[in-house]
Amino acid sequence: MQLRWKDTLYNLRASVPLPFPVTVSRRKLRDGLQGYCKLSMKGPTKISIVVDKKMSETMQCDVLVHEWAHGLLAPYVYEYHEHGSLWGIMYARCYRAAYE
Ligand SMILES: [Zn+2]
Repeated sequence: MQLRWKDTLYNLRASVPLPFPVTVSRRKLRDGLQGYCKLSMKGPTKISIVVDKKMSETMQCDVLVHEWAHGLLAPYVYEYHEHGSLWGIMYARCYRAAYE
């Protein structure tokens, strides 16, 4: 399915809002890094998601959905960088918001 960046971001924000304010940006990342999700607790807690803009738009959307699932886990920092069962549940929610 052809996903558009703006629609994907809109659907995620609407259906699975993150627990803290989020900034999403697209930048050229180093090779091998498709994107990341970072929690900042200096000052008011916020989430930043960055996606590599060298990829196709469809791939960027896929990575955004993946990183959004990490963002949903932000209150449970212990599993923050992992792809465990809790992340899987969050990913399923994000997947449905984006693809269905
Ligand atoms: Zn991940």
